[in-house]
Amino acid sequence: MSTEELIKLSAKEQRTALLNKDVKAVELLDAVYKHIDDENSKIGAFNSLTKEEAYKTAEQVDVKISKGENLPKLAGIPLALKDNINLKNFKTTASSKMLENFVSPYDATVTTKLKENLIPIVGKTNLDEFAMGSSNENSAFNNVKNPWNLSKVPGGSSGGSAAAVSAYHSTLALGSDTGGSIRLPASFCGIVGMKPTYGRVSRYGLIAFGSSLDQVGPFARTVEDCALLLETISGYDKHDSTSLNLEIPEFSKNLNNDIKGLKVGVIKELYDEGLSDDVKLALDNSISMYKDLGAEIVMISLPLIKYSIAVYYIVATAEASSNLARYDGVKYGYRAQNCDSLIEMYNKTRAEGFGDEVKRRIMLGTYALSSGYYDAYYKKAQQLRRLIKNDFDKAFSNVDVLICPTCPDTAFDIGSKTEDPLSMYLTDIATITANLAGIPAMSVPFSLDKNNMPIGIQLLAPVLEESKLFNFGYKLEQVANFNKNYKNAFVK
Ligand code: GLN
Repeated sequence: MSTEELIKLSAKEQRTALLNKDVKAVELLDAVYKHIDDENSKIGAFNSLTKEEAYKTAEQVDVKISKGENLPKLAGIPLALKDNINLKNFKTTASSKMLENFVSPYDATVTTKLKENLIPIVGKTNLDEFAMGSSNENSAFNNVKNPWNLSKVPGGSSGGSAAAVSAYHSTLALGSDTGGSIRLPASFCGIVGMKPTYGRVSRYGLIAFGSSLDQVGPFARTVEDCALLLETISGYDKHDSTSLNLEIPEFSKNLNNDIKGLKVGVIKELYDEGLSDDVKLALDNSISMYKDLGAEIVMISLPLIKYSIAVYYIVATAEASSNLARYDGVKYGYRAQNCDSLIEMYNKTRAEGFGDEVKRRIMLGTYALSSGYYDAYYKKAQQLRRLIKNDFDKAFSNVDVLICPTCPDTAFDIGSKTEDPLSMYLTDIATITANLAGIPAMSVPFSLDKNNMPIGIQLLAPVLEESKLFNFGYKLEQVANFNKNYKNAFVK
């Protein structure tokens, strides 16, 4: 098998190749790094490569295979790690000048799980600074380009992770999703990305943005690979009091269950208006596919969705302003030089270390939490958040899953929204509610628009019902056959 063919296989197929001894884990890694060396300068998905770590793991996998020992499900499969997730003894920058030289002294719990499962970590991927953004243009380092069209954004904030999987720089990736940062770039880059139920995956060692919204989640090129990766990273963690102490279902089982008679709810507010013509057509086609598979289609109204962006940008910025208070030049990270007093050092450190978007969020959040404004903004937002959650609970008492586009439009041109933060915030309209409600949601690549850019369809399920998402996502994937029908620029 050529290296070109090898890197394009799914994780499941790569595993078969490893077990059949068609290829060694080290050779698979060689193939991936060769491709990265050839192409990373164009895409810019990685902040750093972690070859030493990756080869150590791949060698362990090869030893196990040669001895005929049992292998964890994703052992030897290359994975890209978002650079806001700690990997011990390597830099974790959150794409911020503030942490440009920060070397993590410990592993995030998800990283520990990757290591235990012998998954080679290829490198740390670029993101919007502290995961704040929708296009990856807020990174303090380079811009990531969309592998389908290098003049377009890959989506954000996990743009590097999505671009890496889309451009075959890794087979799998992890990202974090606070308001859509896994699903939006998955949709823009034509891959599968999902945000698990809040608490399903430990946040320990994920650099905090909005702690009541943040979740780590998987990227892959197939629904099945995505399910396998979620199984690997899920589970209770004593270091994260919000992680759930529940048995982890085998998400990769029952993918092909019959959905005849099950109910798909179309979110009216994300169907009737605001969608580009191409996205609307894709949504209609995906709904028809479910109908053809015997599902019942129901229109569901979630009237409070119209407030979700406002609620999110109060809750998320409030939590961010508190979480980011720790970057003061004392504890870790960047410290301004030549200061005459402690206060001046704090001020200069934060003025020089944070980028514009991060400062904007800290100011918004601090304002919303200030006495006198707290009741009017933060408290109101929290009350609305509960009502939005209630709307979902009601909806799910009638339907099995909800469907809407992942984004009202496809990837936009680099630079086209940077001057207008509000228009950037609006790209999150379809993704944010899942974080506010704590429910799982997934973006599945479906078709292309007239400019050949991918369109993702989003599925949402009740709390802890990821298995339903994978089942419905798998069915859509089988019919849409995106990977067979559409090829991005990096397929020769
Ligand atoms: N785009 C959203 C924001 O900028 C979501 C980011 C995320 O999910 N990390 O806040």
